[in-house]
Amino acid sequence: MIDLFGQEVSETPRRPPGWTLKRAFLLHYHKAAETEERRCKTCVHLLGHTHQRRYYKCARLGESCGTATDIRLSYVCDWWEKR
Ligand code: SF4
Repeated sequence: MIDLFGQEVSETPRRPPGWTLKRAFLLHYHKAAETEERRCKTCVHLLGHTHQRRYYKCARLGESCGTATDIRLSYVCDWWEKR
């Protein structure tokens, strides 16, 4: 495909369908073992916002003002640090 300036443009999307910041982050994000203390709940990067319910976010991941960056307390990633 040719763009407005006559340059060849790739038609493949820059990101795979369904790509989100969270999905990229999820490469290191997984459910913690039941007995493991190492989880988002005990991480220094955990943030919580209370509206009609409580939404948990990660300071390292950032916030999107939507569900794309919500995290689960029972999960963990490689960036965990003890609170
Ligand atoms: S850095 Fe990882 S373990 Fe810590 S709150 Fe964020 S997602 Fe959870």
